[in-house]
Amino acid sequence: MSENVKADHVRLFIPGPVEVRREILEAQAQWMIGHRSKAFADLFARLQPKLKQTFRTENRVYIFTSSGTGVWEAASRNLVREGKKILHLVCGAFSQRWAEVSRLNGKEVDVIEVEWGHAITADQLADALAQNTYDAVACVYNETSTGVLNPIGEYGEVLRNYPETLFLVDSVSAYAGAPMHIDQWGVDLCLTSTQKAFALPPGMAFATISEAVLQRAAEVPYRGYYFDLLEMEKYYQKNNTPATPPIALMFAADKQLDDILAEGLEAREARHQQMAARTREWSLANGFKLFPQEGYESPTLTVIENTRGIDVKDLNTFLRARGMEVANGYGKIKDKTIRIAHMGDCLPEHLETLFAALEEYLAQH
Ligand SMILES: *Cc1c(COP(=O)(O)O)cnc(C)c1O
Repeated sequence: MSENVKADHVRLFIPGPVEVRREILEAQAQWMIGHRSKAFADLFARLQPKLKQTFRTENRVYIFTSSGTGVWEAASRNLVREGKKILHLVCGAFSQRWAEVSRLNGKEVDVIEVEWGHAITADQLADALAQNTYDAVACVYNETSTGVLNPIGEYGEVLRNYPETLFLVDSVSAYAGAPMHIDQWGVDLCLTSTQKAFALPPGMAFATISEAVLQRAAEVPYRGYYFDLLEMEKYYQKNNTPATPPIALMFAADKQLDDILAEGLEAREARHQQMAARTREWSLANGFKLFPQEGYESPTLTVIENTRGIDVKDLNTFLRARGMEVANGYGKIKDKTIRIAHMGDCLPEHLETLFAALEEYLAQH
């Protein structure tokens, strides 16, 4: 058994799910507790201050039994009123998909769209807000298909002049890797899921929730059932969730938050920056180009242009035999780009092992 576990272990350098440390896997393996018990309320309450610290917010943090996509649906459905519009900032596959979620929930959607690999500037946002009024602006902090980190803090400055417009941020591949300053930036709802830089197994999502979010939701009659934010608020007040939560993942989160805070948020962010800089340097030194626009490169994953015409499937067969895996490009830039995730509990030495294997492969191809 233990030999199989070892043989099957492939360290994932893909942008989710990422490698999960053994201590975190083991933290899940505890006897179950009933979710209406005091033990559960204690667990829920214990997570709150730690979650707030990692988002740098005073706002409440809801726990969703879904991946991040579920919180897209919650935000789109609960926070845009009849006859009003939501503005989506689209710069890649994930930001595009969130706009689709809004449309499929019957909301009227405007988009600002830029070429893949580019960031959306605060000036572009300011121009759009000068022309129309919006119930919400939805954007993606770290666009995982292109490796672009958008200037969320600058959007916040623009949105300060529009108190009626909620500021919704997807930080799925950024949270616990890139700097998060939710209150300083004035973000109303910031969502993430567990399988990216938080480095837990998939299946749970978090969202910071401002008072303005709750006020808006009260003005939207059909909020659905599973993702009704006002129902979640009722239970939040009792350190609980409306339906059965992912208790094992919450045990793991309890430990992971302790570990993240012990490392220190600044130190964790610096480690991600350092790994990103090293990956960019390695990529350029080995004949690749970087896909993102200069100055907006992600600290959690590097998207490189496949300028050497590597067969990514074949590369991964080679890497998996050595216990590693990288990701192909996403959507329309599949095979044209390669994605190397360096997020979560990934360490510089893990990357060096990957680079050594990549160099071995490149020498043969
Ligand atoms: C992975 C990802 C999502 C989707 O999250 P799930 O947890 O898979 O639902 C959304 N946005 C971004 C930026 C992502 O990287």
